Amino acid sequence: MASMTRVPFIAGNWKMNLDHLQSIAFVQKLAWTLKDARHDSGDAEVAVFPPFTDLRSVQTLVAADKLDLAYGAQDVSQFESGAYTGEISGAFLKALDCAYVIIGHSERRTMHAESDEIVAAKTAVAIKHGLVPVICVGETAEDLEAHGPSAVPVAQLTAALAGLKAPLDIVVAYEPVWAIGSGLAATPEQAEQVCAALRAVIAKALGKDTADATRILYGGSVKASNIAGFMREPNVDGALVGGASLDVKEFADIARFNKHVGT
Ligand code: PEP
Repeated sequence: MASMTRVPFIAGNWKMNLDHLQSIAFVQKLAWTLKDARHDSGDAEVAVFPPFTDLRSVQTLVAADKLDLAYGAQDVSQFESGAYTGEISGAFLKALDCAYVIIGHSERRTMHAESDEIVAAKTAVAIKHGLVPVICVGETAEDLEAHGPSAVPVAQLTAALAGLKAPLDIVVAYEPVWAIGSGLAATPEQAEQVCAALRAVIAKALGKDTADATRILYGGSVKASNIAGFMREPNVDGALVGGASLDVKEFADIARFNKHVGT
């Protein structure tokens, strides 16, 4: 089980699903479900990452009903403001009280050609605006074959942290690309091996204290039925969940991983 000093973090990446009305209904239902289950939720922090167009609605609901739920955006512009059609600035996200922003998700790295340099620039922008970056790293099946499991995620995280100074509040998500949306999750042992290597990268770049405090998540076909195995590993502090975060009961059951950890 991960260190007691790190609060477990269960994050739901909705990707391009749920409009602002659907997100309101979802967040209400999720908050009720988690509240009912609070006694065995293990006090995990739960966060949702809706599309940009939902964020204002989610903010209004979370603030009005004082929901015990964090939220963030799925991306941020590397630029501050100006002639960048379609981009969303860190300042805009902060103005909506976003706590987090996902950076460098593999879908953005592959479909939007986000390089390690762009990921590093976005990480710096997030930090500048007081948003906690959830930095995603992970190898493809070809990378795995050619370089083994840790080489690519280690290089990606090293690049993302270059130039940053401790103390720093960041979250890192190890998401093997071959496991995302495939139904084929990594084993807990595979996840632990890479997450331990990523913690060593943080220690080298930002020092041991930041490394010890940073939550490192596993992502890739996480479900209620396999979360417990990951959460038993000492360097896995939570999960970044895609598909299963779109089902309230399944996602709440993932957040209640403590219920299954002993089984
Ligand atoms: C993701 O997109 O970050 C992800 C982990 O997706 P899934 O849980 O569906 O594999």
